[in-house]
Amino acid sequence: MTAIGIDLGTTNSCVAAVEGGTPEVIANAEGSRTTPSVVAFTKDGERLVGAVAQRQAAMNPDRTVASVKRHMGTDWRQPIDGRAFTPQELSAMILRKLRTDAENFLDTTVTDAVITVPAYFNDMQRNATKDAGTIAGLNVLRIINEPTAAALAYGLDHGAAQKVMVYDLGGGTFDVSVIEIGDGVIEVLATAGNNHLGGDDFDDALARHLMDAFRAQTGVDLAADPSARLRVREAAEQAKRELSSITSTTVNLPFIAQNAAGPLHLEQTITRAEFDQLTRSLVEATTEPVMQALNDAGIAASELGEVLLVGGSTRIPAVQAHVQRLTGRMPASTINPDECVAQGAAIQADTLATAISASQGGAMVPRGGQLLLLDVVPMSFAIETVGGIATRVIERNTTLPIHYEQVFTTAAPFQTKVEINVMQGERPMAADNKTIGKFTLKGIKRAPAGVPQINVSFDIDANGILTVTAKDLGTGNEQSITITDSERMTDAEIAAAIADAEKYAAEDQARRDAMDERQHAQELVNQAEERLRSEGKQMDKDAKRALRNAVGSVQKYLMKKSEKMKPEDKAAFTVAIAELEKLL
Ligand code: AMP
Repeated sequence: MTAIGIDLGTTNSCVAAVEGGTPEVIANAEGSRTTPSVVAFTKDGERLVGAVAQRQAAMNPDRTVASVKRHMGTDWRQPIDGRAFTPQELSAMILRKLRTDAENFLDTTVTDAVITVPAYFNDMQRNATKDAGTIAGLNVLRIINEPTAAALAYGLDHGAAQKVMVYDLGGGTFDVSVIEIGDGVIEVLATAGNNHLGGDDFDDALARHLMDAFRAQTGVDLAADPSARLRVREAAEQAKRELSSITSTTVNLPFIAQNAAGPLHLEQTITRAEFDQLTRSLVEATTEPVMQALNDAGIAASELGEVLLVGGSTRIPAVQAHVQRLTGRMPASTINPDECVAQGAAIQADTLATAISASQGGAMVPRGGQLLLLDVVPMSFAIETVGGIATRVIERNTTLPIHYEQVFTTAAPFQTKVEINVMQGERPMAADNKTIGKFTLKGIKRAPAGVPQINVSFDIDANGILTVTAKDLGTGNEQSITITDSERMTDAEIAAAIADAEKYAAEDQARRDAMDERQHAQELVNQAEERLRSEGKQMDKDAKRALRNAVGSVQKYLMKKSEKMKPEDKAAFTVAIAELEKLL
């Protein structure tokens, strides 16, 4: 039995298997080496996947789904004939076709598979991908990161230890990762990207140019006619591809429109230089993520041992030149950029399947030289603590798998339950991060604040899937998170959250300081009240009055909302706290 590797892409997918020791891409039933990630439902209930679905998309837009990968791990649904399809179910239809095509090609049953995901996919998105595999009848051996798969395809795991950049520009997305390849280990150090930048934008730019020129010549706006617009867009994509290997091409669209004088034909010659001019801003938009990934990885471009190109759009010569300018390195280009991720997945599938059969059903035994894959979390994890603070428990870009635990306690006296609010995000205040799951640990023994000990542990496995457990060390009572129906951050949210975090860093610090000050003030008030209660009778009258007054002035400010306080109130509050502190 053969284990397959699947690159489940936003625009195209690809499947490969190791045969005779080398990874081979498997052609689909239509004879193509990649399959459009498009699913459609015909009026009479037939399900179409791949090129046939893509071809009828314009005639059947409401019942055709493309780019479902963008919705993985969200509660987005596609309604068709009274049913709401989940992203997992739709992806499973693509996976099932890839599996069937592989079975026909290999002439054997296929169940074991490794599926790739972008390095920034969070655990909800990874889980959804795994579920899609299961729905397609696959036994998903492992979910691995796309850049990691690319490095495997290039055989970089067998060479010297080095840091590598993977620059992946596909049909609709751009991802850049910096990975470190060491002794049998590949680690993703950092990832960045733009989820809405890819080859489609290059097609649009060229199509717009063709339509503008046509309007200038004939006065006819092709954009107003959906079928003409579609023909122009398809021709633009074709011309774009041609311009990757030749320096000039002619777009020819006869009978594209009609005016009073009769039928009109579009015929325009485009040079590579013109195309580069039209798409310069798109190419340049990849600069910032590249810089961010290098920055997050803490290295200079000169420290890169290799730069790998992934995704069909990296065939564009201007893109390759740009990558070379940014990194100072000639990108490697011996493997087809559309195929290297699936090939790497096939290599990993083969390694894992062999390891499993070697163990003969017992515990999995890693073979000598077997590659252990290490990935990172794309976003920090935190839990909410007193005062709405997001207490960071796992930092962004920490290497998987992760086990982390910390002991927390209660904030209020006689608290018998605690709510664990698990968040992803980079901001110091809970409200500014995204809650990815919540649960309540009940049955805590009644005790003063700060006495119960609650051990909270985070486990993130090699697939990036998270389990949070809270355990009351007093009673042994334990509760794990049911995170499945919570929403996870989308990659766009992640990017926005990171940008936000940087933008608001100073503001956040000020708010956090204010929260800390209030917290401290409340503790002093509690302490003073406790003293007045227990020692009040013995205290000197004046000292007692002074303490009461000091408590009163602190409380006056505690009653005001922090964000409503004027600068002079804030200063007075700090003075009042210092006064009270002196008396204690
Ligand atoms: P992917 O999602 O990696 O399969 O990339 C698909 C994108 O690559 C589409 O936008 C294609 O138009 C684009 N593409 C494929 N081949 C070429 C080529 N030779 N030159 C430029 N773009 C290409």
